[in-house]
Amino acid sequence: NTFADIDLGDALNENIRRCKYVRPTPVQRHTIPISLAGRDLMACAQTGSGKTAAFCFPIISGIMRGQSAQRAPRMPRTACPLALILSPTRELSSQIHDEAKKFAYQTGVKVVVAYGGAPISQQLRELERGVDILVATPGRLVDLLERARVSLQMIRYLALDEADRMLDMGFEPQIRKIVQQMDMPPPGLRQTMLFSATFPKEIQRLASDFLSNYIFLAV
Ligand code: AMP
Repeated sequence: NTFADIDLGDALNENIRRCKYVRPTPVQRHTIPISLAGRDLMACAQTGSGKTAAFCFPIISGIMRGQSAQRAPRMPRTACPLALILSPTRELSSQIHDEAKKFAYQTGVKVVVAYGGAPISQQLRELERGVDILVATPGRLVDLLERARVSLQMIRYLALDEADRMLDMGFEPQIRKIVQQMDMPPPGLRQTMLFSATFPKEIQRLASDFLSNYIFLAV
């Protein structure tokens, strides 16, 4: 059971080899097949478990194979990502961005990060150049949505990383506002992955509100 046995697309498989990942970690071994099969997922995962790759691989693989084709934003300066990865902090978002870029190397999949506590101007310029996967903190993303510089109408993949920490930090209203904007046209097209270290009632409620017919994994 190695990554060479999992067909994620040639370019992505090659990048995984370059990163010297040979065998999936337990979280990856359990979640990747479920995500590749298109199912929603709620997974228990600690830092260091390899969860970044667990949600990045299916997203990158799906976008590589899929419909990155026609995206006509209503406004030319509005970015329309296909995937959104929400994470609680600037540091974590930045780490996810760095890893995702390595995995997406030469796949044609473009990754952009947007977090608070840093000037928005450079993030806006990056977004204008095009984005497939947006890695963001909830507060900064709400700001971008309010400025109409990001539209979530094309989102096909949503990953919530460290969901319990996001709730602890008080981001629930922002997260709900963000997910609401994805529920516009055909529901069921969005695939959602929720990762959390703990599963208090609040997280279970989030899962039942955001996920459909999901698989629960405690690795
Ligand atoms: P994460 O839990 O996503 O922060 O990953 C923890 C660390 O494990 C990171 O440095 C990853 O690059 C590394 N890692 C993730 N998956 C694998 C794997 N399958 N094989 C070797 N290293 C990995």
